[in-house]
Amino acid sequence: TDTDTADEAVRATCDDATICKRYATSKGYWKDPYIQYFVRSVGERKAPEINRGYYARVQGVDHLLDAFIKKAECDCQVINLGAGLDTTFWRLKDKNLMPRKFFEVDFPTVVARKIHNIKKKTFCASASYVFQLLPSVCLGFVCTDAHSLDSDRYCIIGADLRDISSLDEKLKKFQLNPELPTLLLSECVLVYMTPSQSSNVVHWAAETFHTAMFINYEQVNMSDRFGQVMIENLQRRQCTLAGVEACQSLDSQKERFLKTGWQHADALDMITVYSMLPQEDMARIESLEFLDERELLQQLLQHYSICWATKDRLNLGNAHVTL
Ligand code: SAM
Repeated sequence: TDTDTADEAVRATCDDATICKRYATSKGYWKDPYIQYFVRSVGERKAPEINRGYYARVQGVDHLLDAFIKKAECDCQVINLGAGLDTTFWRLKDKNLMPRKFFEVDFPTVVARKIHNIKKKTFCASASYVFQLLPSVCLGFVCTDAHSLDSDRYCIIGADLRDISSLDEKLKKFQLNPELPTLLLSECVLVYMTPSQSSNVVHWAAETFHTAMFINYEQVNMSDRFGQVMIENLQRRQCTLAGVEACQSLDSQKERFLKTGWQHADALDMITVYSMLPQEDMARIESLEFLDERELLQQLLQHYSICWATKDRLNLGNAHVTL
């Protein structure tokens, strides 16, 4: 059916993100020793503005995520919605910032692929430090079925984010604790849902957790010519940005949260995030590859944003977490 084709095209986007991250890490933009287990080959060259954009995205998201986990002194949980093949869990472990439990949710077929990769011998054997430091992660997997994986600290769940009651039920089945400070993360995910479906997700999160932060990274300023071209490029691959109406401006990004029970919301476009990178980081990454047209970087990064929203009944100071 049309819905199946559309969903399949959306699922395929998880490879795009990981392929780009794999390429950028191979060029030395940042370190991720785990990503190679999910995408084997480095693949085709990507333009420098794309790599710089991914750098700013990873730095920006990690900065907010780490700050939240530090405020909670790791006594918290993280839920990565539409996690795809993301490696954040493993990277947090390396930074000694492991939350009590880290959940990932994606479509069952994406989850099945990820679980297969994690369980493949190569993952644990070559990353033997993971094996030793985290017996509960590598050895203690309780695989209930092909579409979910559970351990003390790490849990991967196959679910459709458009079906909130089933999402809620599955997370609780895997010991989600609504009383714990909770960080929700969605990177290029909500934009594939209609505005009402993404509002439902954001609303569910605000209702479920009293102390929480939601980080959403996705397209913004989509009504101009450049935005239209981005939409057309995805449509050529049968991929519809159903949520594009919620991506018209930084204000519309914030509004989605403020209308659904979140206390604070902030949003920045990625060219601003990029310009806020520490001088030495910027000098380092700008020396990695020559960029002849700065205009392209500007345009591309003006069309992505990070929005973050908070609720803070426990007074952890989440509202002061900022980029
Ligand atoms: N967040 C990951 C990252 O940044 O590397 C993956 C991003 S990828 C562009 C979008 C992901 O969202 C895909 O893995 C896709 O399967 C997932 N996704 C989109 N809509 C979804 C839905 N309704 N239910 C579950 N997962 C969904």
